[in-house]
Amino acid sequence: MRFCSLSSCSYANCVVVQDQNTCILIDCGLRKRDIRPFLELAGLSPGDVDAIIVTHRHIDHVYGLNFFLKEKNLPIYSTTRVLQELKGMTFTTPPHLNILSECTGQRIGTLGVLPFRLSHDVETIGFIIHGDGERLGFMTDTGFVPESCLKAFHDLDYLYIESNHDPDMYKRSDKPGYVIRRNLGLTGHLSNEQCGQALQSLGHQNCKLVVLGHLSEEDNEPRLALDCARRHLAWGTPLASAPSRKPGLWSDNLIQLTKKNPHPK
Ligand SMILES: [Zn+2]
Ligand SMILES: [Zn+2]
Repeated sequence: MRFCSLSSCSYANCVVVQDQNTCILIDCGLRKRDIRPFLELAGLSPGDVDAIIVTHRHIDHVYGLNFFLKEKNLPIYSTTRVLQELKGMTFTTPPHLNILSECTGQRIGTLGVLPFRLSHDVETIGFIIHGDGERLGFMTDTGFVPESCLKAFHDLDYLYIESNHDPDMYKRSDKPGYVIRRNLGLTGHLSNEQCGQALQSLGHQNCKLVVLGHLSEEDNEPRLALDCARRHLAWGTPLASAPSRKPGLWSDNLIQLTKKNPHPK
């Protein structure tokens, strides 16, 4: 299994995950003009994608859904509540909505997807995705790491986790007070330190790659997020951050790169 972030920030989020037979997107917050070029940079076209899983209704995660479905009307998966919220969006053709079972999980082609509720100001899910005998944990847009995830996200092969902000940068920002309180609160986003503590509790000694995602463009810097995560991770764990507004490298390439240069500045 491998994965590639096509964009990761408060502007647009989209991650592609594939095993040998199935290719899915997690969210599609991309602008219309970016969908084809960003997929092409990852060596894909819309026709290669089999399904889209939606984490939640926020615009940075669903902005490009209708544009993508015009290219290919593929099935969308999420919880009943999130799907209900998607029905409030305008779609050119009615989307194929599929419930992602929170008890048993769901097979999407050859990938298995097990959702977990996160803590955000609208219903939001993270997942463990199984494919090719490996497991990827995915968790963004949450004010804290729920107990259920702390229990389940063990012995993963890969982890994609939010490291949204540096609280000191946030407190100095010129955003309105209510936005700052929301984003720093229990239904907001994980700070660098919260992400680091989660990495420490999860203990990913054998993890092949940790990717930090959804970094705030104004209130974080990749260097700060990476330094904080590295302090909490087992020595030598491959670590990278997903770039904002452009595709990053595929996970297998990131692993090769971090082996050559384990502590890039
Ligand atoms: Zn978001
Ligand atoms: Zn959100």
